[in-house]
Amino acid sequence: MPLPDIKPGRLSACQYADNFSDAHPPLTHVQALIEAERCYYCFDAPCINACPTGIDIPSFIRRISEDNLRGAAKAILEANVFGGMCARVCPTEVLCEQACVRNTNEDKPVEIGLLQRHATDAYFGSPGAPMFKRAESTGKRVAVVGAGPAGLSCAHRAAMLGHEVTLFESRTKPGGLNEYGLASYKTVDGFAQKEIEWLLSVGGIEIRYGQSLGQQVVLNGLQAQYDAVFLGIGLGGVNALGLASETAPGVGNAIEFIAGLRQAGDYATVPVGRRVVVIGGGMTAVDAAVQSRKLGAQEVTIVYRRDQPRMPASNYEQEWAQHNGVTIRTWSVLKALDTTLGHVQGATFAEVHDINGRLEMTGKHWELAADNVLKAIGQTLLLADPTATTLALRSGRIAVDDEGRTSWEKVWAGGDCSFGGRDLTVEAVEHGKIAAYSIDRALGFARHDTASKRTRPTPA
Ligand code: SF4
Repeated sequence: MPLPDIKPGRLSACQYADNFSDAHPPLTHVQALIEAERCYYCFDAPCINACPTGIDIPSFIRRISEDNLRGAAKAILEANVFGGMCARVCPTEVLCEQACVRNTNEDKPVEIGLLQRHATDAYFGSPGAPMFKRAESTGKRVAVVGAGPAGLSCAHRAAMLGHEVTLFESRTKPGGLNEYGLASYKTVDGFAQKEIEWLLSVGGIEIRYGQSLGQQVVLNGLQAQYDAVFLGIGLGGVNALGLASETAPGVGNAIEFIAGLRQAGDYATVPVGRRVVVIGGGMTAVDAAVQSRKLGAQEVTIVYRRDQPRMPASNYEQEWAQHNGVTIRTWSVLKALDTTLGHVQGATFAEVHDINGRLEMTGKHWELAADNVLKAIGQTLLLADPTATTLALRSGRIAVDDEGRTSWEKVWAGGDCSFGGRDLTVEAVEHGKIAAYSIDRALGFARHDTASKRTRPTPA
């Protein structure tokens, strides 16, 4: 039986190092000063409103122009404790930079993301004295489930407010998507863990690893034992293709592929097919496809069911994929996988078109040879806690109000597991922050009213 062409070590050590180096190198000091000068320091700056965490962008840019990089980093990190990671992964082209008034005058926004990275990199490179100090202890205990961006953001803010936080994490490392779910070239040199190490240095946060909700801990137990609970559990389930052959060798989840690659100490040990097909159109599809190319796959194709403008991945991400040799094919849905040799060797797609908003088959089919087929067709909430069955859901996610309060007393939720948002890291960070302030108020310490100013965006 011929074996599928899936193997590690397709490239030389130099090629791996080159392919997985920093995708978007930082600005030099001089470049940052020149870019900062392009900011108009707008009164009522639209870029601030476009930032889900409300970073005072003109303020931090002004501090960069004054060569006050620590001050700039403080303005960023006060609003967004993951300001360093968000500077790397935020789709700024549809957030702050899209709103920048320089677009009108020059068709080119101020490079806010790169400036944010310049300031935070300088700070994390040499943090010096602690930037944040915890308030006096309140004696209150907050349980946070999930050490991803939402959970860590909530934990940090709650700890700053003087509460004692216990963070329950199912894996062996903190970070969630920052550690397991992003393309390696977006966050090089262990930045995700360095940033979290700094975040935890504020104190007052104890992390317990290997603690899954529904197994080692249950929601009603946490609710009884703690003064407040925050759920930042993300989405643990992966949507299925609905084909009997989807468990065949060579077929996998893009999420697991990306996580495996991020945790591989040596890229040369990561197997990849010669021909890879990725089903889906979001950022996960792009990250899996581009990284397949960077591991040495010769032919990589993303297949999406609608046209490119409707792909969830931004234009920038789509161009990045194409720039890296990925082919994008549209208006096609997977009909069958060819696994007659005991492993996947090809896929058949049906062409579709849009009839009054509904996808209908055109009757035409096309085929693609494949050694690897990666599913990137979305995730679902996995709430495997027998005590949490009465927690209200909305559209398959935990229903929350503007402050992240769930239907259960003393229980808040945020990030991807909760309804209302675009599944962005930066929004998860804001959810955690808002929930921490809301918890603080519920515990009788009305010290912040941030939650009343920044509410969740209504999902499209
Ligand atoms: S909108 Fe653009 S020019 Fe105005 S403050 Fe924001 S970054 Fe500066």
